[in-house]
Amino acid sequence: MASLHVSAEELSCPVCCEIFKTPVLLSCSHSVCKECLHQFWRTKKTQECPVCRRRSSKPKPPVYGLGTGCTD
Ligand SMILES: [Zn+2]
Ligand SMILES: [Zn+2]
Repeated sequence: MASLHVSAEELSCPVCCEIFKTPVLLSCSHSVCKECLHQFWRTKKTQECPVCRRRSSKPKPPVYGLGTGCTD
């Protein structure tokens, strides 16, 4: 197990400000909840990053193991 030292801020979703449950890493290297991202995309009708508005072709698969908090 790699012990990454990440702050709670880095583990928080910029959209809902909650600790990630299912983080998705976008191609712009921003991370948001999978749910928040999909909700954002539904609202905007375009697949862009909620943080930097960069168009993202496809999010990378959900990223687990950013630190703690992942339910087993
Ligand atoms: Zn969120
Ligand atoms: Zn971004």
